[in-house]
Amino acid sequence: MTASKLAAGNWKMNGRMVHLEEAMAIAAVNPGPQTEVLICPPATLIAPMAQALTGTHVRVGGQDCHARPKGAHTGDIAAAMLVDAGASHVILGHSERRADHGETSADVAAKIRAAWDQGLTAILCVGETEAQRDAGETLHIVGAQLAQSLPDGATADNTVIAYEPVWAIGTGRTPTTTQIAEVHAHLHQAAPQGVRLLYGGSVNPTNAVQIFAIPDVNGALVGGASLKAADFTQIIAALADA
Ligand code: PEP
Repeated sequence: MTASKLAAGNWKMNGRMVHLEEAMAIAAVNPGPQTEVLICPPATLIAPMAQALTGTHVRVGGQDCHARPKGAHTGDIAAAMLVDAGASHVILGHSERRADHGETSADVAAKIRAAWDQGLTAILCVGETEAQRDAGETLHIVGAQLAQSLPDGATADNTVIAYEPVWAIGTGRTPTTTQIAEVHAHLHQAAPQGVRLLYGGSVNPTNAVQIFAIPDVNGALVGGASLKAADFTQIIAALADA
């Protein structure tokens, strides 16, 4: 049975062996069965982190996978390799990958299928740029990304959707609670029933309580603030209390 809330940390291109201590400190605080906790470290840390966290409530995920199961794709990682390393989830379609690697929603859909084939839960990211928000296109953009990135077959067990406004990632800026509520209500209507909806973009211990009080926000995808156990555990506690 899937927990109703999820706090997921995206470590991006941060973390070396020494930082496994931070993951252990995150695992030292158990928020209870309703709140799932996940850390997505760089690929080099998935196996050692999964091993270090064995027996704890914290699970480990990847930050990307290739659409193909194996082959001549230098530098890429297959979904089966993530599973082999101990991952249960994989972030797909993050705006940094869409921007840095030119990933289209069709690419993301193929990756989600590959992840599902290996039993991974896909965390699909959608979100508008600042220019798109200013142009009044936010709901259209996130709706189109969802429709084009999410293949048929999504369920509450194999998929999580993260609303991440591009302009809020790593900037310290967040949408208003009304703006987040509007997008989450839209996604709630459009997403398959029961799929959890995360908000992501500059979540921190100070704004977490307010964000988790918004209807249809079932958790967070956290970048910078997930790197420090002291901050991430406060966010996890706020989610558990929401
Ligand atoms: C992210 O990259 O998914 C993210 C939400 O980053 P941050 O929390 O640092 O804005």
